[in-house]
Amino acid sequence: MEKLTVDDLRAEDVRGKRVLVRVDYNVPLNERQEVTDDTRIRATLPTIERLSSLGARIILASHLGRPKAKRVPEMSLRPAARRLSELVSQKVDFIGETVGEQARAAVEQLADGEILVLENTRYIAGEEANDSELSTQMAELADLYVNDAFGSAHRAHASTAGVAEVIRERGGLAVAGHLMEQELAYLGRALESPVRPFVAILGGAKISGKIDVIEALLPKVDRLIIGGAMANTFFRAKGYETGSSLVEEDRIPLAKELMERGGDKLVLPSDLVVAQKMEAGASTEVVSSDSIPEGLSALDVGPDTVRDYGEIIRSAKTVLWNGPMGVFEIAEFRSGTEGVARALTEATAGGATTVVGGGDSAAAIAELGLSDQVSHVSTGGGASLEFLEGKVLPGVEALSERTGGTK
Ligand code: ADP
Ligand code: MG
Repeated sequence: MEKLTVDDLRAEDVRGKRVLVRVDYNVPLNERQEVTDDTRIRATLPTIERLSSLGARIILASHLGRPKAKRVPEMSLRPAARRLSELVSQKVDFIGETVGEQARAAVEQLADGEILVLENTRYIAGEEANDSELSTQMAELADLYVNDAFGSAHRAHASTAGVAEVIRERGGLAVAGHLMEQELAYLGRALESPVRPFVAILGGAKISGKIDVIEALLPKVDRLIIGGAMANTFFRAKGYETGSSLVEEDRIPLAKELMERGGDKLVLPSDLVVAQKMEAGASTEVVSSDSIPEGLSALDVGPDTVRDYGEIIRSAKTVLWNGPMGVFEIAEFRSGTEGVARALTEATAGGATTVVGGGDSAAAIAELGLSDQVSHVSTGGGASLEFLEGKVLPGVEALSERTGGTK
């Protein structure tokens, strides 16, 4: 099932038309209401440039934070609009409404190629409920719809799903933006037709949040490498003592079952960095995985593990990484995550396709300054997880299908 994208739109489909683009401008703001990280805004520029060059009248919609259907002034989209205006040559307007009379009037003022940013979609009750009345009001603003907000695509909200359906029912097109397309291409190819060997690395805090990913990936990968606190639950399933490490007791039987099913595919750390406390300056020790001392916690994978995992990663042709190997937020427990990140960059340089998903993993690789040395860093934490679990994302589902004749 393939979806149409902005590249499929021709000038005659778009020129002078009102195009509603769902973006993910859920950006961090400081107390002076300035955007402190504009990555998400920059990520939408290819889609905006494309539409603008085709002569579209561009209307941007996004949520920011969780205002819970109230007008929370600190969560206005105005600062994002201001930042966008500094990044593009076109005129960028902002209107403090999301739908309704004033929003429609502001849209009427747009010239071809110009941009209007609407107010926070989550100011309005009905957005998160995917309310059909709100979806219809949003659809009244536009002729066409573009979804470039991969990070919100796992939610069936009015601005991500409902509005697309109304526009399509009206005979209009609803297509994927460049960013969305890129996400689907990288994640989709890894799942559907990976060049082998295909290696997945899973880490992070809990098994429970990633069971469905493990289950979905296990039959597809050649190796499934485990790190982070998740490994501890597997150690317990093997009968090892884990000291004061984070363990999900109720998932031990599941870990046992996954190990049986996975056989040699499933790889666990051979050594670990342990400490008494999860804090900066803690004194650390490297121990073998089967001998975590009483009272100590495993907070990172050890140097032997980094070397072994590095070898597996460097010999892979497709690598998917989700979840840090340790408590990377603290320098003492960062080596495992850094080692894996560096192995990924080496694999990439050697021609492998490497994809990083997950909010904390993306933050970790960004902090290491290595984001541009892997093939793709997903912008959607929750969305990329759900995609890897094999779930259909409502925001993608709602877009127009590519049919034989259309191109
Ligand atoms: P992602 O957001 O990339 O999917 P997760 O949210 O699953 O990743 O996990 C990230 C968190 O896991 C980080 O905050 C990290 O500190 C924590 N973590 C990793 N390893 C351990 C460990 N051994 N003990 C406790 N916490 C850990
Ligand atoms: Mg996380």
